[in-house]
Amino acid sequence: MSLSIRTLNVAIEGIPILRDVSLDIPAGCMVGLIGHNGAGKTTLIRSIMGLLPIDGEMLFDGAPLHTAKSHQRAALGISYLPEDRRLIPSLTVEENILLPAWANGLRDAAQRLQWIYSLMPEIAQFRDRRALQLSGGQQKLVALGRALMPARQMLLLDEPFEGVAPVLSRRLTEVIAELRGEGLRILLSESDDTHSSDLVDRVYRIERGAVTAA
Ligand code: ATP
Repeated sequence: MSLSIRTLNVAIEGIPILRDVSLDIPAGCMVGLIGHNGAGKTTLIRSIMGLLPIDGEMLFDGAPLHTAKSHQRAALGISYLPEDRRLIPSLTVEENILLPAWANGLRDAAQRLQWIYSLMPEIAQFRDRRALQLSGGQQKLVALGRALMPARQMLLLDEPFEGVAPVLSRRLTEVIAELRGEGLRILLSESDDTHSSDLVDRVYRIERGAVTAA
């Protein structure tokens, strides 16, 4: 059981961005995606989420994913953490985390919320604060919590360590390792392998829109 991407091509405004990308995220695996800024990591993650028109094939546990709308992909348990946090500043921490549940009508939102708080007790302490009152690092953890609400099967992390202070990077590493231990399939993108080398089972490198297994 896995995500299999075959000969994926993505062009934005007529400019080819991803070229013949093939990549697998097997069950229970954490896969690294390493590439410089502008290499195409975000474009690949947005393509998996169904946010960009693509040419190519994606199979998720054997079924076509490329024909599914983005909300259907979320309903399958695929979720992503954007590089910028994109919290809603005026909403509380808890409201931000619950947003995907409201959007998708998740029935077990209360249990998911408790699980997220048990994984990151530090954000439970801030549950009633508005997002704008938190530090950048705290907001990162809240954004991860929000991504975890629908992430039953697969989590795509777009440069989660970017701009994060060392103490929080260590904490983030612990949380990501725990998620992997729980069997979540994870794609972890990074501009180099500083944080991902100890975490991932397999690495793909991406350069100017082309991916090679390392
Ligand atoms: P970064 O860390 O800088 O986001 P990345 O590896 O995630 O790097 P992408 O954001 O996927 O790279 O960008 C890949 C290429 O596609 C870059 O050359 C970028 O300029 C281009 N690109 C991405 N989105 C657009 C867009 N909406 N319009 C035009 N070009 C785009």
